Amino acid sequence: MKEFDLIVIGGGATGAGIALDATLRGLKTLIVEKNDFGSGTSSRSTKLVHGGVRYLEKAVKGLDKAQYDLVKEGLKERYRFLKNAPHLSNPLTLVTPLYKWYEIPYMYIGLCLYDFISGKRGLGRSKIVSKSEIIEKFPMVKKDGLKGGVRYYDGAFNDARMVIALLQSAEELGCIVKNYTEVTEFLYEKDRVCGVKLKDNITQKTEDVKGKNIINASGVFADRVRRLDDKDAKKLVEISSGVHIVLDKKFLPLSEGVMIPKTEDGRVLFMLPYLGKCLVGTTDEKSKLEEIPHVKEKDLDYLIRHIKKYFDVDIKKSDILSSWSGLRPLIVNEDASSTEDLVREHVIVESKSGLISIVGGKWTTYRKMAEEVLDYMISKQNRKNLHKCKTKEFKLVGSREKLSEIKVRLDKFSLENKIKEHLLEFYGDRALLVCEYIEKYGKENIVKGYPYLKAEVYYAIEYEFVKKPLDFLVRRLGLGLIDKNALKESIEEVSKILKESVDLDEKYIKEAYEMCESDI
Ligand code: FAD
Repeated sequence: MKEFDLIVIGGGATGAGIALDATLRGLKTLIVEKNDFGSGTSSRSTKLVHGGVRYLEKAVKGLDKAQYDLVKEGLKERYRFLKNAPHLSNPLTLVTPLYKWYEIPYMYIGLCLYDFISGKRGLGRSKIVSKSEIIEKFPMVKKDGLKGGVRYYDGAFNDARMVIALLQSAEELGCIVKNYTEVTEFLYEKDRVCGVKLKDNITQKTEDVKGKNIINASGVFADRVRRLDDKDAKKLVEISSGVHIVLDKKFLPLSEGVMIPKTEDGRVLFMLPYLGKCLVGTTDEKSKLEEIPHVKEKDLDYLIRHIKKYFDVDIKKSDILSSWSGLRPLIVNEDASSTEDLVREHVIVESKSGLISIVGGKWTTYRKMAEEVLDYMISKQNRKNLHKCKTKEFKLVGSREKLSEIKVRLDKFSLENKIKEHLLEFYGDRALLVCEYIEKYGKENIVKGYPYLKAEVYYAIEYEFVKKPLDFLVRRLGLGLIDKNALKESIEEVSKILKESVDLDEKYIKEAYEMCESDI
């Protein structure tokens, strides 16, 4: 039976972060994901790397140290995130239009505090924006009663690709990385958990694997996995769903985002530039556990209604290019009246048999969560030969060389500028390797209107753990997330290429077409 120092259950942000940190510390690690990597919550986020401006307001209003620390930690991690994966993340300015005079100094002072807490790790200074500038630069913002606004900095990133970059980095160091592999049972030795039964969800084959340590990082499924070990485990996870929609760039023809801090029901509404389109989100509602969370009509109505309320745009449901729902794993807090009130912090718990679970958190703090859970695990053992956490300054695959230098080297390939920009943005310094595939397989596009090439499918099969059409089209390329019609047009070609290398069951092609008819 194969044996590992650590088995990580769940290939989202949390699990991938743990797998990399553990491998870097010298632990022989296996990470398993029952579906595709990132297919859970981690590809369904708002794609912001943030300290949480809103938590800061709560911290100040409630003189709440815990909320303040959360913001501080988030800002520290925001800096590291952007530094260690610059090709997948970037600073983003966000503008908030304001309609009451007193809101301008109120928001501005809050944002100055946000900048102050960021200290030397700040991304830029917040500013007051005049009414005329907003009208000029954001013509779609409601002008009626507009008094001015504020501009501040946070980060934006490609969440689905970030999971892959983390896993590629871990694999490069010796971690065993398996998607479509589910933990169905735990194995025990004298009441201590010592391994797992794995089921390959494509071939249906099972295998027992031993692990000296096992970490459950299964997000919203954490309680389900905990109950495989202890059927009486108390509920730890509260689930809240958030829906996003994607619109044409004409609705936000800018490189800045717009943030409405408080909608009529107290939620935040973002309109953000994303992969050449406009991303709008999100709802936030208590939800139940679903394998694939679905967007409800009322969620779409909510977002359309709010876009109309805060923006002068003529928008209809038929303008929606794609939509998806994501489930937030939040920590149970009996005192909170709504999921909005739950502090998005993580917890680490260990069962009687030694199964460690880490639940909650946010994408921005994935690295810190991994560090904490591994420090916890190692502190319980006498293993002085292990390295300390090394991820603070560890550059992920794709970020090892300066992007400006890669850009120059990319110029040697006769490719359209749009294609070069896309390669740099998605693959960083690996763009040069992708170019070798382009030289071998040609420059043919996957679908009209996008700079995505068929050669990338070959690269993704080799390096990015792609097994099914949707792995590539939704998560590696993001095409399904931004344009369902383009997704539909691409399935046949991508499936054809996949069939050359993997044993692709027709049902996965059918599944891809079915997804085009609903949400992602
Ligand atoms: P997941 O990504 O869900 O990963 C858990 C994985 O475990 C799943 O892929 C699942 O398939 C797998 N799994 C479950 N059971 C098993 C099993 N038995 N065997 C093997 N695998 C298993 N954070 C930010 O920092 N910025 C944002 O802008 C932001 N926006 C958000 C917007 C929304 C709408 C939501 C819902 C969340 C947002 N978050 C954001 C939070 C962030 O996305 C999550 O905290 C993070 O993605 C959670 O990652 P995870 O790895 O814990 O969970």
